[in-house]
Amino acid sequence: MNDPQHDFERFREHLSVHGNGKLVRAVAARAAIGNWRAAMYSRDDVRQLLECWEMTTADLELVDQALATAWRVRAAAYAPYSQFQVGAAVLGSCGRLWCGANVENSSYGLTLCAERAALAAARAAGGDAFLLLCIAADTEEPISPCGACRQWIVELAPHALVAMIGSNGAERWCTPSELLPWAFGSRMFHRHE
Ligand SMILES: [Zn+2]
Repeated sequence: MNDPQHDFERFREHLSVHGNGKLVRAVAARAAIGNWRAAMYSRDDVRQLLECWEMTTADLELVDQALATAWRVRAAAYAPYSQFQVGAAVLGSCGRLWCGANVENSSYGLTLCAERAALAAARAAGGDAFLLLCIAADTEEPISPCGACRQWIVELAPHALVAMIGSNGAERWCTPSELLPWAFGSRMFHRHE
């Protein structure tokens, strides 16, 4: 666990459906660093690691922007009942960003999570090749998507990475299938000849 080289390679492999361009490498690198930082390494360690991958912190700018957007958009949440604000941002392979926040309802079961709001906004704007879904909330450990959102993520962003962000910069990065192994999918009701 927390081996950045191993994470970088497996995340790149997961994202390889999007090619191996600069942004794909940046997402894989930022993901590997995000998991590794949980083990409290220094900025110099990060710089050295990026050097090995022939990158600089400037290459990670768009990914950092996606994380910051998820954090910032929490303020747009409609959460009068729980007061629990969650933000989400989706990064497309074109470099575009879409975002969403949770929207509650007095009929509690109708509440929409930030992840689903962001994915719906991204789809509605024509996005589809998603590299990254960031989720942010003011929680001690990185915020984790609920079961319904996991199902949405494996269906709409199966080739993305998921970044979970808590307060104090706590991060956890993984693939959608790690969040929801053996997920239900359309292959189950499409009979193969
Ligand atoms: Zn949810």
